[in-house]
Amino acid sequence: MDALIEKAARAVLGSKLTLALTGAGISVESGIPDFRSKGGLWDRYDPEEYASIYSFQRDPEKVWHMLREMEEIVDKARPNDAHIGLAELEQMGLLRSVITQNVDNLHQEAGSKDVIEYHGNSRSLTCLWCNRRYDYAQKKGEYPPYCACGRILKPDVIFFGEAIPMEAMTQSYHLASSCQALLIIGTSAVVSPFNVLPRQAKQVGATIIEINLERTVLTDHISDILLQGKATEMVSRLLSAVKELKDL
Ligand code: NAD
Repeated sequence: MDALIEKAARAVLGSKLTLALTGAGISVESGIPDFRSKGGLWDRYDPEEYASIYSFQRDPEKVWHMLREMEEIVDKARPNDAHIGLAELEQMGLLRSVITQNVDNLHQEAGSKDVIEYHGNSRSLTCLWCNRRYDYAQKKGEYPPYCACGRILKPDVIFFGEAIPMEAMTQSYHLASSCQALLIIGTSAVVSPFNVLPRQAKQVGATIIEINLERTVLTDHISDILLQGKATEMVSRLLSAVKELKDL
């Protein structure tokens, strides 16, 4: 493992443009369950059903039961060493952007400045009927939250079946097309079109460094290095190795 950490650290140090792609797994150690965690939120709410725009349109009150629980969990969560380590890499000038599928705001809370939220965020809400927008704070504690027009509001997270925000999609694709090293942390990489990004980076010759508890669909053909283990431990070890090699 030490040799792999060193190889990953050298790839980051030798890269002119490094990106981090993150998924639900990076926030698991902050207490937010991913879609795979046993005994959590997603055992009671099937994500295919509850995180679909069709379900929301059909029965928004039902979906708000899940959203309320998710919000309570996210409100309590704090950034962990993996979020903080990425923010430190950015401060050192060694990480250009974090492109995240998460909607929990933990990268920003950790201090990352350049964060692309590929699947939107939960800090604001929109009315699907009249397009009015509200800050999360204006509606905090209202379940379900209503628009002035009388309809139930939807948080600005991207549900299955909804389009990815155009700016996030084009900016991410552009960055993935010009990066030289790519960290991909805590994602099963099965959600499309996010999973196009590691393939695009690979195509332009970037070194792909995957951090995950387990092997994924990327491991065999896309990843150059798999740092198998917890995101907090692997990012911390990578950061220490980068600092050590930088000072040599
Ligand atoms: P996923 O649940 O499909 O996969 C999570 C991955 O993280 C798995 O491969 C798992 O092995 C890995 N993992 C779990 N704990 C880990 C740890 N401690 N260290 C390293 N790896 C760990 O998640 P996904 O690929 O992100 O796709 C699910 C979709 O749902 C995404 O859009 C995601 O953002 C969203 N979602 C977001 C949150 C959040 O905002 N925190 C939480 C749940 C789901």
